[in-house]
Amino acid sequence: MKYDDDNIFAKILRGEIPCKKIYEDNFVLSFHDINPQKKIHALVIPKGKYVDLDDFSENASPEEIVGLLKGIKIVAQKLKISTDKGKGYRALVNIGENGGQEVPHFHFHLFGGEKIGRMVQ
Ligand code: AMP
Repeated sequence: MKYDDDNIFAKILRGEIPCKKIYEDNFVLSFHDINPQKKIHALVIPKGKYVDLDDFSENASPEEIVGLLKGIKIVAQKLKISTDKGKGYRALVNIGENGGQEVPHFHFHLFGGEKIGRMVQ
């Protein structure tokens, strides 16, 4: 799938649409989900143009891959949901049609602040 420059997260990255920013560095942007499913529901997105996890795994540089994983930990610490600063959280990625992905810019969901419950419904 070709990357769509008009997707909502691309617009947030370009500053065309506001977001409730949690953290930003050279590799990632993190912000609160507009429609939170749990007490804490954050999104962590790479700054590069990747459609989904498969695209990212195949085409991102080692620095981008490490940067994203490190970014997730930093965000979890900032939100006090990491296992060293809080009680843990769930990181989730939807991939493609069957995975239920709606926004075609790769992103991690971080859920926390309460028990997250069943893994899959
Ligand atoms: P997914 O189904 O994995 O693609 O998740 C997309 C997520 O993006 C959903 O949880 C939406 O609530 C969230 N979302 C959509 N638009 C925005 C926005 N403008 N700001 C923050 N989160 C958004």
